[in-house]
Amino acid sequence: MKNSRLTHLLFLLLSTSPLFAQRTLLHCGSLLDGVGSDLQREVTVVVEGNKIAAVQKGYTRPTGSDRVVDLKTKTVLPGLIDMHVHLEFETRRGGAVDNFTQNVPDVAFLAARHARTTLLAGFTTVRDLGGTGVNVALRNAVNRGLVEGPRILTSGKSIATTGGHADPTNGYRRDLMGDPGPKEGVINGPEDARKAVRQRYKEGADLIKITATGGVLSNAKDGSGPQFTEEEVRAVVEAAKDYGFAVAAHAHGAEGMKRAIRAGVTTIEHGTFMDDEAIALFKKHGTYFVPTIIAGKTVADSARIFGYYPALVTPKALAIGPKIQDTFAKAYKAGVKISFGTDAGVFVHGYNAKEFEYMVEAGMPPLEAIRSATTVNAELLGMKAQIGSIEAGKLADLIAVDQNPIQNIKTLQQVRFVMKDGKIYKE
Ligand SMILES: [Zn+2]
Repeated sequence: MKNSRLTHLLFLLLSTSPLFAQRTLLHCGSLLDGVGSDLQREVTVVVEGNKIAAVQKGYTRPTGSDRVVDLKTKTVLPGLIDMHVHLEFETRRGGAVDNFTQNVPDVAFLAARHARTTLLAGFTTVRDLGGTGVNVALRNAVNRGLVEGPRILTSGKSIATTGGHADPTNGYRRDLMGDPGPKEGVINGPEDARKAVRQRYKEGADLIKITATGGVLSNAKDGSGPQFTEEEVRAVVEAAKDYGFAVAAHAHGAEGMKRAIRAGVTTIEHGTFMDDEAIALFKKHGTYFVPTIIAGKTVADSARIFGYYPALVTPKALAIGPKIQDTFAKAYKAGVKISFGTDAGVFVHGYNAKEFEYMVEAGMPPLEAIRSATTVNAELLGMKAQIGSIEAGKLADLIAVDQNPIQNIKTLQQVRFVMKDGKIYKE
């Protein structure tokens, strides 16, 4: 009796010991590790558990229970990071009616599907910048392994002002409109701002999103005017600091953007009507710009389809959408720090990597565009030690594509292999 218990204990110890864990050897024809600027040829990435154990020259031969994945015809690079997605939502003609017909479980099933699509497109980490709060449950479900999806950092519900972009009752009939407050993510004044941040903390958010100016898809007239006072943004940023939250600010118009930058937000999303003064502020404060070019182009295209958007939305989409790529070109040239983000959901999920093509088209070298979605975003998320590059000790988030993305950036739109946290999702 005593003996068998001892044997059992010994077995447990051995089977959980890293010495006996199964290793996965990724034989990579080419490797872009995210650290160096050149491709390395014929490399083996050794994965143990959820981590990268080693990166070795040549094709390491398997021993014991090692598993080999043949990626000899592929280029392997770090899992991509998208700083701006909306997993709960996906654009479709007449979709504005969904607010009145969908229950929370409907949103949840959709969100789970979008999460999987995003992961299979090579995005192993995302920031969800606003939904109903299902995004918090989705993050938890992914972390528990109940749903396949990228690693999610979520803002929960975005914070707006009354009638502003992300006031959830814009355009409703009066009796349905009500008067949402900080609990629902709608604030007026610094007191409300602090409460709204604390409410997001209570609900399990990882960061804060505010809508500093009007936006395209809200059922409201103005798409770019300021919607927060600088005092309100400051109150958000100060309260957010107490919880270690970054603040992402949606902004199209220059005035709202400048207030947000001066108040200390971490990123400006979209940045459409950025002027020279705003550019100078970006550089002075070290604020990052998340361009979302693909979202701009998509809304402009969709707005040309009759009945796609509500009447108030169409002219905003036509005016704002086409401008973002030129703004990106100008900002990049001026030396504004760029963080890769797409606004997926505003376009169909899974096409996120098209953004790289638009960035390169606007003058950013491919390697820099890739870095904006790997090392840059990892650092911005405070996860530099875990993700963003292929190095021993980091989480095993890797993807593979057919061609060298530095020569053909479009190859990132066809991801062939996806590993997240040491687990293979696409092969
Ligand atoms: Zn967005």
